[in-house]
Amino acid sequence: MALQLRPNCEYCDKDLPPDATNARICSYECTFCADCVETKLHNVCPNCGGGFVPRPIRPASEWRAGLSVAKRPPSTTRVRLSYSVEDIAAHSARIKDIPPERR
Ligand SMILES: [Zn+2]
Ligand SMILES: [Zn+2]
Repeated sequence: MALQLRPNCEYCDKDLPPDATNARICSYECTFCADCVETKLHNVCPNCGGGFVPRPIRPASEWRAGLSVAKRPPSTTRVRLSYSVEDIAAHSARIKDIPPERR
C-alpha cells in the first residue's frame, strides 16, 4: 500500500502536491506544511501527538513499471482538522517538550 499523498496542509489548507518539498507527515499520514509544523504545531501532530518527518516525493517518471505519480496518483480528498486553534495550541504546549521517541 502506498502513501496517500494528501493534497493539502490540514492546518492552513495550503496545497501540497506530490513534488512538494515542504510537506510533512506523521506516522498516520496526517499531513501539514513545514511552516505550520514549525510555527503552529511545534512538531506535535494535532491528531495523534506524534512528531513529523519530511514526506517523500513520488517520482514523476516511471523508472519502474507501474510506479509513478501518473500510475499511482495522489489523493484528491482535502483533509481539515476538526479541533479549534485554541485546542491545538494547548495540545502542542502539553506535548512539545517530550521527544517524539518518548511520547
Ligand atoms: Zn500549513
Ligand atoms: Zn498524526
